[in-house]
Amino acid sequence: MKLILLGPPGAGKGTQAEILSKRLGIDTISTGVMLRTAIREKTELGKLAQSYMNEGKLVPDEVVVGIVKERLQQEDCKKGFILDGFPRTTAQAQALTETGIEIDKVLSLEVSDETIIERLSGRRECKECGTPYHVVYKPSSKGDVCDVCGGKLIQRADDNEETVRNRIKVYHDQTEPIKEYYQKTGKLVIAYGKEELEETTKEVAHALGLE
Ligand code: AMP
Repeated sequence: MKLILLGPPGAGKGTQAEILSKRLGIDTISTGVMLRTAIREKTELGKLAQSYMNEGKLVPDEVVVGIVKERLQQEDCKKGFILDGFPRTTAQAQALTETGIEIDKVLSLEVSDETIIERLSGRRECKECGTPYHVVYKPSSKGDVCDVCGGKLIQRADDNEETVRNRIKVYHDQTEPIKEYYQKTGKLVIAYGKEELEETTKEVAHALGLE
């Protein structure tokens, strides 16, 4: 299965990607995680990405397309992958099409703007491995450390209210038009994010025809 997860920030793409990745035995490729890793490791890519990300803006297409193309050439991607957070612009979607890699499904995970703001304020992630959590909807069983690796749980720098509002605007202006791009290919399916994680997981499985 070669899958794209679309949706606004905080829709639950990362969490659903993690669940699908285990279920389908394929890796998640998250541009957000890759960029945050680069920032942590203070690489050239990280230095370039940081200012855009702090303001809730998109990192330039050519930069992101470059790192995704490189990742998709790796051997493990042949059996499938889940793209989380890419493509985010029509130009990125076109660049992906031009690689010739056939995508099976594009899942749009939809939630309202009010829900996004509420969710992002409670969102946490593991500082070490990036596993996503939420203080109410998906708490770690170990309090403020990660269930997977024991790393410290932190709030992302771009989950503050002003940046979140920018990210929502960027989503509506630049990313939402991609739905139409994939609608035309007949690959777009839609799932509505619910309050309960299990409910959303069911919706997603249903939309992908996995039940
Ligand atoms: P995410 O973790 O997917 O919410 O991404 C966090 C931030 O990383 C975004 O607000 C962007 O600044 C940047 N980013 C992630 N993926 C992309 C992408 N495909 N294109 C451009 N910027 C991206």
